[in-house]
Amino acid sequence: MDFSGGLGPLLFSYVLINGILITLQTKEEVLLDMKATGGELGWLTWSVDQGGREGWEVVQKTLNGSQFYTYSVCNVGKLDQDNWLRTTFIQRRPSASRVFVELQFIVRDCNSFGEASMTCKETFNLFASESDADVGTTFRKGQFQKVATIAPDEITGKNELRINTETRVVENLSRKGFYLAFQDIGACIALLSVRVYYKTCPATVKSLASFSETVAGGENQALREVSGVCVENAVSEELPRNHCTMDGEWVVLVGQCQCKPGHEEIKDACQECQAGFFKASSSSDMCEPCPANTQRLESGALVCPCMDGFYLAPSDPPTGPCSAPPSAPRDLVATTTQLSAGKLLLSWNTPEETGGRSDVTYNVECRRCEGTVCQPCGEKIHYEPASTGLTDTKVTVSELDAHLNYTFTVEAHSGVSQFVSQGTQRIIRPPSTSALTTSLHYTDPPKITAMQLVERTHTSMSLSWAVTHRPQVATRPIRYQLTYRKKDDNLDVTTYTVLILEKDTVQINELAPGTAYLFRVQALGGDGGPGGFSMEKQFETLSEASLAGNTAIIFGAAVGGAAMLFIVFVVLFLRKRRKNSHTRQGAEDTYFSSSEQLKPLKTYVDPHTYEDPNIAVLKFATEIHPSHITKQKVIGAGEFGEVYRGILKVPGRKEATVAIKTLKPGYSEKQRQDFLSEASIMGQFSHQNIIRLEGVVTKFKHAMIVTEYMENGALDKYLRDHDGEFSSFQLVGMLRGIAAGMKYLSDMSYVHRDLAARNILVNNTLESKVSDFGLSRVLEDDPEGTYTTSGGKIPIRWTAPEAIAYRKFTSASDVWSFGIVMWEVMAFGERPYWDMSNHEVMKAINEAFRLPAPMDCPSAVYQLMLQCWLQERAKRPRFGDIVSLLDKLLRSPESLKTIADFDPRISIRLPSTSGSDGSPFRSVSEWLESIKMSQYSENFTCAGIITMDQVLQMKNEDIKNIGVRLPGHLKRIAYSILGLKDQTSTLSVFAV
Ligand code: AMP
Repeated sequence: MDFSGGLGPLLFSYVLINGILITLQTKEEVLLDMKATGGELGWLTWSVDQGGREGWEVVQKTLNGSQFYTYSVCNVGKLDQDNWLRTTFIQRRPSASRVFVELQFIVRDCNSFGEASMTCKETFNLFASESDADVGTTFRKGQFQKVATIAPDEITGKNELRINTETRVVENLSRKGFYLAFQDIGACIALLSVRVYYKTCPATVKSLASFSETVAGGENQALREVSGVCVENAVSEELPRNHCTMDGEWVVLVGQCQCKPGHEEIKDACQECQAGFFKASSSSDMCEPCPANTQRLESGALVCPCMDGFYLAPSDPPTGPCSAPPSAPRDLVATTTQLSAGKLLLSWNTPEETGGRSDVTYNVECRRCEGTVCQPCGEKIHYEPASTGLTDTKVTVSELDAHLNYTFTVEAHSGVSQFVSQGTQRIIRPPSTSALTTSLHYTDPPKITAMQLVERTHTSMSLSWAVTHRPQVATRPIRYQLTYRKKDDNLDVTTYTVLILEKDTVQINELAPGTAYLFRVQALGGDGGPGGFSMEKQFETLSEASLAGNTAIIFGAAVGGAAMLFIVFVVLFLRKRRKNSHTRQGAEDTYFSSSEQLKPLKTYVDPHTYEDPNIAVLKFATEIHPSHITKQKVIGAGEFGEVYRGILKVPGRKEATVAIKTLKPGYSEKQRQDFLSEASIMGQFSHQNIIRLEGVVTKFKHAMIVTEYMENGALDKYLRDHDGEFSSFQLVGMLRGIAAGMKYLSDMSYVHRDLAARNILVNNTLESKVSDFGLSRVLEDDPEGTYTTSGGKIPIRWTAPEAIAYRKFTSASDVWSFGIVMWEVMAFGERPYWDMSNHEVMKAINEAFRLPAPMDCPSAVYQLMLQCWLQERAKRPRFGDIVSLLDKLLRSPESLKTIADFDPRISIRLPSTSGSDGSPFRSVSEWLESIKMSQYSENFTCAGIITMDQVLQMKNEDIKNIGVRLPGHLKRIAYSILGLKDQTSTLSVFAV
């Protein structure tokens, strides 16, 4: 603010108000300044005695070295003096009704004039006369009114000059101007300075109101009230008022202006809130940082709008943090403590995400289904304490009918739930971990009530049976397990045939003529829970005598309707269990060594059974001279040292590219033996789908293991590098190879324990071979190996639950791992269970959750995976079964056309609009990275797709047009967009 104004000096005076020293600013506006004018002023003089005696006259004086003009008069010793000095016309400023007249003058001591002192005066008079116009030289004494008698404080004697300063006020001026006059009545005076000024309260900004410069009031208006004007971007309901005193001081400020929304007061001005701050109302408050879950806007924000997916509840303060609706209640379980009383306790865990709110409540809904018709359970059901608005995570439901199915849905609500259309999401099997709603069946397991023979021939029988009731809500239809055996099997070996069926009828072929069979049917239920056995029934085939040439019934076709799901187990319960000759294989392994004639010709021998492991190596591996080996390039790092690609040139044999595993220097004898044990194991195998051992170097310092070279390296990485590039047929082909290798190993009673895609190697013809044998490897080598409570190191996400729980490693646990490898292969090297922790994986598995189908996975292949992951290991298929089924699928590729349900939210693990940590994707590239499609970043940018909003608008055609050609990639991107659009919450695992 410019105070200088050029009009006059700014005076500072200090006033003590209530003990506080404050600075007052006043300003003087000068109307006349005799000194500043300099030279001849042209003031009018008038004297009583115009005829000779002179009155006031101009005198040029030198005072303190500088020249100036004064008026003086000194007619002492003369009677009746009446000498006038009149100023020029002084223009008055409007509203300046009160002017100050400051005089500097010298008065001579009358005593210094001797006898003249008798008539000598020491005062003079100040007069003023108002006029609307300059009257020139016309002077009429009568028009002047006396303002004051001016007396000196100090009079000047002979030797020294005493300058007096006196200020007088001329009040109530109203005309356009005025004259001042000085009347001398016989003194000896020098008028050194006359300064006429009025006071103003300077322009100022107080309380965000600006007050313009205001002329100080006079006696008739001691305080001048002035209305202020709010500064830019400030407002006030009532204009603030300030008061200017006669002394030019602002006092008594009433009211104030406040900065508008989006602005705050900084140095008497309203400035925009900085970016990321906001102010919602006109107030004196400062801008505040945007609250949680709101968007940071540019400067000047009135509010910070909620980020996408976050809302304000009506009861929330409009400027408070935004919040999201809660995720689904977790782990809904029902406890049937008083089943007979029709009572059920439903309990669940709080949602993983409360959305930043504490007002989460739950509503429980019950539906009763009969057939395909479902209806609300109605009034009859009683809830304690209530069915809606529950704050606790449990409710007791009573008055339930024990023979009906009920589906309970628990929804989490909060103040912002109303803003989201909560699509009801059903999870197939309880308990769910993150479902919005869940289903729970409160029902007795279905029971088989009757079984009858419908038709029979000499080699076949048709049976049918009935069931008490069917679970209605399960996604899978009820299944039956039919077990039959010849009635009079000898006691040593009983052959049971087990069929898993979807229909309540079956035709069984290839039976012995005229033979009695015992049949039992068990309902498995849609939710997989077993029902009680039916009574055992006996039926007989027609005898040979009735044979009528109908001999060509093919077994496989008979159960064709259930082909996808059924698994035939022929379990031979051998009374005399085969003795196990090696330590690593448990007795359970005989499970796969069905009968004497199926027993493999060769059985794996644990090198540890040799007292000297070096002898084992020599027995199973060929010794190679190091000079026949040329190392070319490091291709990997094994536990014991580098792995090289190289050339093996044995005289008389064709040169071959090989992989050479080396033992790093400084090893102990124990390490050397462990290293070579892999060769001792590998050397026992000879199969197309098992890495072939070429030989070993043991007799020289640097031990080496030489195997066939697999150009494409480890399968997991290979698939990741070629994501989406292979058809299901090709993938199933790879799986078939692995299964064949595993069948070979299991037939040899070898349990791999670390079957995973990273331990499968791929050659240039895309043949997959099982590798990574060795005694210590599961403990040491595998980066996935995790110490468990049982002390061992186990690759948790590949390992069957019984092997984790009590180290029950069998071919059946290898089958579980094979299921995981199937998933890895079908998901192009995706990490099983994504970023779930090992602990979460174990918990989920124990709660019956299984990995969901990978994208584009043939239904039959997924069903096979699920079979591999059956909790009860005896029920898992054997590798022989797996090879046959995969062969069957490969023989009829159309069987791969039915695709398993795929939920992009689960499989790509994308919540609606955010990354795995819940925060929205900030950029297209961040999103692409999350679905491992970063290679298309440039395609999106070039096509001008730079925001996630644009991504969400994309159709499949658009994705193709920007240059995504590979069908797998196209689908991955399309599915992810689909997942992003879906506002429902993410499931972490999928229930079977
Ligand atoms: P391993 O110690 O068996 O896990 O081998 C370490 C790494 O070396 C593997 O992950 C492969 O990348 C590579 N490797 C091992 N054996 C072979 C092989 N026969 N052919 C090609 N690469 C191999």
